[in-house]
Amino acid sequence: MADLDTIPPRVAICGGGIGGLTLAAVLQRFIGDKKLSIDLYEAGPKFTESGAGITIWQSTRFILGALGLGDALEQKALSTPMTFRKSDLQQGFTFFDVEEGSTTLPRRELLSLFADQLLLDDGSVLHTHFSKRLLHYEQNEKGVNMHFQDGSSASADLLIGSDGVGSATRKTMYKQLSERMRGTDSETADALLGFMLPSWTGSYAYRFLIDAEKIKATHPDHIALTRGTMWCGAGKNGISYPISPTVINAGTMVMVPGGLGKPLEGDSVVKASAEDVANLTQDWEEGFQVLVDNINETSRWAVSQVRGLPQYVDGRVALLGDAAHAMTPHLGAGAGQAIEDAYILARILAHPSVTNQNVPQALKVYDVIRRPIANDIVERSLRQCFISTLHPDYLPSGIDIAKLQSGDSSEWTKVRQDMQDIWSFHGGKMPDDHWEHAQALLASTLV
Ligand SMILES: Cc1cc2nc3c(=O)[nH]c(=O)nc-3n(C[C@H](O)[C@H](O)[C@H](O)COP(=O)(O)OP(=O)(O)OC[C@H]3O[C@@H](n4cnc5c(N)ncnc54)[C@H](O)[C@@H]3O)c2cc1C
Repeated sequence: MADLDTIPPRVAICGGGIGGLTLAAVLQRFIGDKKLSIDLYEAGPKFTESGAGITIWQSTRFILGALGLGDALEQKALSTPMTFRKSDLQQGFTFFDVEEGSTTLPRRELLSLFADQLLLDDGSVLHTHFSKRLLHYEQNEKGVNMHFQDGSSASADLLIGSDGVGSATRKTMYKQLSERMRGTDSETADALLGFMLPSWTGSYAYRFLIDAEKIKATHPDHIALTRGTMWCGAGKNGISYPISPTVINAGTMVMVPGGLGKPLEGDSVVKASAEDVANLTQDWEEGFQVLVDNINETSRWAVSQVRGLPQYVDGRVALLGDAAHAMTPHLGAGAGQAIEDAYILARILAHPSVTNQNVPQALKVYDVIRRPIANDIVERSLRQCFISTLHPDYLPSGIDIAKLQSGDSSEWTKVRQDMQDIWSFHGGKMPDDHWEHAQALLASTLV
């Protein structure tokens, strides 16, 4: 491991998904003459994305702009405001809009924006290692040792776990935190063990792609061609949004009653059929039926989350993205939050006052800035999940479900008020406001 103040810190990033690649790209962009070295360990044989489409919002676009990727994003993305409809009846109706505008694009395009950006640099500070699946690590006051599935090991001065919802970094961190607590407070030690694994949201998502040309041919004014749409119904919801002029990304989610927090039984991804989806939504409004009629292939994904982590950081190790705060897809915010984590963390690590010696304090600043925001968005997303599936326990208190089902406008006004509250996080601060806060904390805490 490196001498604390003489050799530039070696940053290990485990996981080359959207979060890990953004971290590497922002580090390269803001590194100045600091000459950090970055080792990026990815479990897969190359950078890749599962799933087809992604929605991103204004604050994420700001970060892409800061990386010089704003124009490239404009060329690849569509601007798609969102509409929420009550759809589990013949005559559906719109009850909420998010007009400020999301941007949608194919996932692989977003990932390649970051990957291409990394390749553009001369590569002197970044070393990528594929087919390296982290199993666990140990750390001391000087650095971190990582152990991989292929039997190899590597060391670094700090480790960032951007290894997704099933994060081996989070598993190791919370196992170690629990072990340290065991002698003094067994109740807390048990609670910490509960954060090692993600928890099931009690929902499954059927994901599929629709040929937009086919929809245009038969239904040229179909809402799915131009707007993101959340198709809501009791116990289920659909989602659709165009990700290119020819492709609509879509899905159906179904809630298992009482499933929230229960152990997931069976595989997290299984093959499914168009008929499975059609059976779930057969009484729904025509607009959604048209999409379901055009499914070619689909698979069913168990949706898990990482809820309320009490810390994202332990010593020289930090969690980022889904590893820290995987969430339901109902706000389209998971990737955006990973990108925002990466922006703040990379700017902290690239800051001139952060040395190899004070890395643990610097990582704590990241935790203080990012954890309350991202943990709050996990909760908002879960609330939106249950409201979209009209779960009585999550609808505004005192609501009359029968009236709501029949479309009574005063009951829907109450739902709208709750949704305005959920979505208000978009009107909040931008990444550079948080970066300013982080700089103030660095100035007051680093020695
Ligand atoms: C159905 C669905 C729809 C969604 N829609 C949206 C949306 O519209 N908008 C949005 O913002 N978000 C959406 N999300 C969430 C979004 O996909 C995630 O929040 C985002 O991909 C998280 O990025 P990440 O880099 O943290 O993790 P990931 O993208 O999961 O990347 C993790 C990387 O780590 C690698 N890895 C895993 N384990 C190891 C290991 N042990 N060692 C080394 N490498 C490892 C993986 O191979 C992968 O490359 C959706 C999620 C789901 C399930």
